[in-house]
Amino acid sequence: MVEPIRMTTRADRKKFIVEAGYNTFLLRSEDVYIDLLTDSGTNAMSDRQWAGMMLGDEAYAGSRNFYKLWETVTQYYGYKYLVPTHQGRGAEHILSQIMIHPGDLVPGNMYFTTTRLHQELAGGTFVDVIIDEAHDPANLHPFKGNVDLAKLERVIRESGPRKVPYVCIAGTVNMAGGQPQSMENMRAVSELCHREGISVVLDATRAIENCYFIQQCEPGYESKKIAEILKEYCSYTDTCTMSAKKDALVNIGGWLATNQQGLFEEARNLVVVFEGLHTYGGLAGRDMEAMARGIVESVQDDHIRARIGQVEYLGNHLLDWGIPIVRPVGGHAVFLDAKGFYPHIPQSQYPAQSLACSIYLDSGVRTMERGAVSAGRDAKTGQEHFPELELVRITLPRRVYTQAHMDVVAESVLEVYENREKARGLRMTYEPKYLRFFQARFEPVK
Ligand SMILES: *Cc1c(COP(=O)(O)O)cnc(C)c1O
Repeated sequence: MVEPIRMTTRADRKKFIVEAGYNTFLLRSEDVYIDLLTDSGTNAMSDRQWAGMMLGDEAYAGSRNFYKLWETVTQYYGYKYLVPTHQGRGAEHILSQIMIHPGDLVPGNMYFTTTRLHQELAGGTFVDVIIDEAHDPANLHPFKGNVDLAKLERVIRESGPRKVPYVCIAGTVNMAGGQPQSMENMRAVSELCHREGISVVLDATRAIENCYFIQQCEPGYESKKIAEILKEYCSYTDTCTMSAKKDALVNIGGWLATNQQGLFEEARNLVVVFEGLHTYGGLAGRDMEAMARGIVESVQDDHIRARIGQVEYLGNHLLDWGIPIVRPVGGHAVFLDAKGFYPHIPQSQYPAQSLACSIYLDSGVRTMERGAVSAGRDAKTGQEHFPELELVRITLPRRVYTQAHMDVVAESVLEVYENREKARGLRMTYEPKYLRFFQARFEPVK
């Protein structure tokens, strides 16, 4: 599929970003030249997936495509039971409502926005147990998504294992800069949790990308296929939630998969309340068919090498020019270090939000903030979180753009970097209650 993209002038873009309240989420897609806001649902589907869209069995109950999806998830991810959902947060909602009780703690390797919110809405509190290296954009640890086992043990000791319904592991870790977790670390987390009777839940959204880093960097995995590594990685966990809009190469879809029969039965019941019947979970039959075909394509070694290779290409370009980015280059995106770009803008004036706007103004390239705006406020005290990492995410959709597009993006970032002294901070003029980064509005600080 080929889509036209439209060039705008700087004067146009100035008008558009003011109208959008200095929030790239509020721009219209037609006013964007190269759209690197997210890799979520923005992937190009293949000929085979589109052909599958014609084979939708749109029966209300028991669609053929549902059974195919279930078999495919079991074949590649290994889980016994499947509950489809309309996207990742649908699965997170159901899981959190079933497993979390008020006062519970949910340790995880750095927070994710929707995941943490669903944990909080269910009465739980997220506790960060990622290794310290993850908070330092310059640290070259190859597995910055790893769990610090001592931190995890301390949480379990101090609260008692009964207060920890599960540990939530994401591989790769989006908020840390797309950083992977090693197989060795996953195995250790699994052993520790299972010894304490605690479940391990995988946020499998980018698990296949995580497996690529295991193949490239972890001794013993260099000659294994991605599909084989994925099966082993998931085998240490009990349950997964999935946003198929990322790894699985579709525009919409997700699931909750588990080996635990009790959880499956509860989830299959609850999905009817929030998403749809347990054999479609808010999706059309054709969406489930595209997802099943997408999974098969997503584990191909050539695909994943080309995908992450493109991210590396952009990242290395920026590094060659001395531009501050999170290192090592992550799986799905290059993350600019906004504190390194704009040391003169205090974090309370959202330097990363301002940087995303500068890039849009310069070239029409759309990126997004991953810093204080995304981190939001503490659920109990109402205080703003100011995370160590104040980043702009340049996210690459899968199979959409070419290397030439990456050159345009790199040159624009360089232009913005060279004019960095002129940048100003932002003040928030409208703040929604939940996941504020999607809809907040700003104006430049005078
Ligand atoms: C996107 C994402 C989610 C939420 O999935 P949606 O499909 O957007 O609802 C959860 N976890 C991670 C790591 C994600 O990237």
